[in-house]
Amino acid sequence: MDLSKHAFFEGKIVPLSEAKISIATHGFLYGTAVFGGIRGYWNEEMQRLFVFRPYDHFRRLLHSARMLAMRTEYDEESLIQLTLDLLHTDNWQCDIYMRPTFYKADLGIGVRLHDLKDEFSMFVIKYEKYVKNDTDAHVTFSSWRRIDDNVIPARGKVAGAYVNSALIKTDAARAGFDEALVLDQNGHVSEGSAMNIFMVRDGVLVTPPVTDNILEGITRKSVIELARNELGLEVHERSIDRTEVFIAEELFMTGTAAQITAVTRVDHRPVGAGVMGPVTAKLRALYEDVLRGRNKKYAHWNVAV
Ligand code: PMP
Repeated sequence: MDLSKHAFFEGKIVPLSEAKISIATHGFLYGTAVFGGIRGYWNEEMQRLFVFRPYDHFRRLLHSARMLAMRTEYDEESLIQLTLDLLHTDNWQCDIYMRPTFYKADLGIGVRLHDLKDEFSMFVIKYEKYVKNDTDAHVTFSSWRRIDDNVIPARGKVAGAYVNSALIKTDAARAGFDEALVLDQNGHVSEGSAMNIFMVRDGVLVTPPVTDNILEGITRKSVIELARNELGLEVHERSIDRTEVFIAEELFMTGTAAQITAVTRVDHRPVGAGVMGPVTAKLRALYEDVLRGRNKKYAHWNVAV
């Protein structure tokens, strides 16, 4: 694993080997931590690293922290500055993934959210593809249901809630699929194991609304904007029924890790023509240009290191 040499840990940048928590830490014992997943893209021609939408990522992270009654002095700007400091320290010149985490840092037993100290950490890892088959993914409907907002905040990136994602991912992988689609408690298609979903139906781009227990993805938000402004597509945020994906023209998944992954089969049924469709292909090309800092119009989404 290409882990960073340094990490941000409890207030300062330290060698990764010194960034350690106790086995008695609340966040470890109870999953009371919230995290982000941010990517940085290396542009070889420009010899520059671009961090994609860090403000939005940190804003969501601070919202997740708020849902777990965490208190912090950090705001979006100070978290971006700390990210740049950490990236400069290790002088990254490749594609990377950053993992910031706020966690309940007290030691000892006692499940609750209040009267606990909150800490922040971040490390970096070299990163390339997450879904190997990202132009031709085969997925299944998971037998697991997506966490419900009345169980664990679904719009928060809560560490403990990722047991749900892990169950979904492992069962799909062991059954030979690249990924899974997950229904919420109402039976609507919610998302993948750690990515949002979109379908093209009758030429309209459709994605579940933020009230269907999805994580409010930054990639999702970016794709909606690109589809409307650059492809002139109509985009609807509405609930999606299970069988709609069988008759959709196109299906794809979005996420920081998964980027834009074309789904070409669902439970062995071809989606549309059974190959990546034109809308997915166009969005992938647009998105790649934006991420690498090659699209001037969306330069404000990137922070250059
Ligand atoms: N859903 C879940 C459960 C996720 O973990 C992620 C990845 N953060 C996403 C969706 C996609 O969100 P984003 O585009 O912000 O990475």
